[in-house]
Amino acid sequence: MTENLAVLGSTGSIGTQTLSVCEKLGIRVSALTANSNIDLLEKQVRQFKPALAVMGSEALAKELKLRLADTDTRVSYGMAGLCEAAAIPQADTVLTAVVGMVGLKPTLAAIEEKKNIALANKETLVAGGSLVMKNARENGVKIYPVDSEHSAVFQCLQGCPEKKALKRLILTASGGPFFGRSAESLENVTVEEALNHPNWSMGAKITIDSATMMNKGLEIIEARWLFDVPVAKIDVVVHRESVVHSMIEYCDNSVIAQLGVPDMKIPIQYALTYPERYPCDVGTLDLAELGTLTFAKPDPETFVCLKACKRAMAKGGTATAIVNGANEEAVRLFLDRKISFLKIGELVNASLDNVKSKQIITAEDVFEADKAAREYILANY
Ligand code: NAD
Ligand code: MG
Repeated sequence: MTENLAVLGSTGSIGTQTLSVCEKLGIRVSALTANSNIDLLEKQVRQFKPALAVMGSEALAKELKLRLADTDTRVSYGMAGLCEAAAIPQADTVLTAVVGMVGLKPTLAAIEEKKNIALANKETLVAGGSLVMKNARENGVKIYPVDSEHSAVFQCLQGCPEKKALKRLILTASGGPFFGRSAESLENVTVEEALNHPNWSMGAKITIDSATMMNKGLEIIEARWLFDVPVAKIDVVVHRESVVHSMIEYCDNSVIAQLGVPDMKIPIQYALTYPERYPCDVGTLDLAELGTLTFAKPDPETFVCLKACKRAMAKGGTATAIVNGANEEAVRLFLDRKISFLKIGELVNASLDNVKSKQIITAEDVFEADKAAREYILANY
């Protein structure tokens, strides 16, 4: 069980829910980071009294330092600050909830310092999965999933010591706001419509990823690395209610599922308390009230990001960093209203065909691929 936690991205959707779990369980917090939300970070520092607080820029760090002059909290900024928070001596675990592949360097820094990782930041594994898992193995570090599907798989796997008994993973997907729609009908959807997720309240980037189903593609790659299962053995089923969080199938065709109300506090807490369980501040699941749970096939012809992720995984090396970087840039352009919704999937697939991939030897290979993918998108949107 985690005793002392560093939270990267503490002002976001996962970050704030993580702090409410910490408060409830009495987990101490030694570092907090935010990109720009200085008011919330200040409030969090006053409540949790961490040794270190990190802002995105030098200017914001200066202001935070002034505001925190009456406290013992040190203030830092930028990537160096994030890495410092990730490696802070007091913490035994680092929860990574920044958005995007900006989380890769700090995650590697935390692993280097032998911190266990509670991983929400899936882009890190998508971009640099082979490297992260290799470094974690070499440093004897555990990576606990926070993503609800991966937490579900992790929970289903408890009591299955024999890997060879596992036949396949079945990841559930809500399908987002547009499941069932044709590509033609999605031509003019607005940012507001794409941000209107039926079941989950999350940050903007992952909400758009959910609408394009890139999120599920990223999660297939994330699962491949977390559980060391080939992509051919990872299936996706659309489940609109987001109650079955994912399943595993054993060689005897027995299927085990994890269910619960759609509330990220459950997987966040399990990542922090594993292998123990504690009461959690979420609703109970009332199946009779729900009445029906539905399942359907995904539609990769309309939601082409799913295909891009599978193609990238088959290509290997930096190809997954390329689709991830391209997607981060394309989502930003969509949120800035510079491209249409369907253009996101088009650009992500095009990046894979046009940006050269190579084997990952060092983190630098991942950063170069990410940069090349972003440049490709900016030159071709
Ligand atoms: P969010 O946008 O709500 O919060 C992101 C956090 O990261 C904020 O604290 C922000 O200040 C910080 N941040 C953003 N950009 C940064 C940058 N460039 N440098 C440093 N810090 C930066 O996002 P979220 O929904 O909490 O998601 C966080 C991560 O967790 C993502 O990788 C997402 O895919 C994953 N995730 C989220 C959920 C969810 O329910 N929200 C579920 C599963 C996985
Ligand atoms: Mg998920």
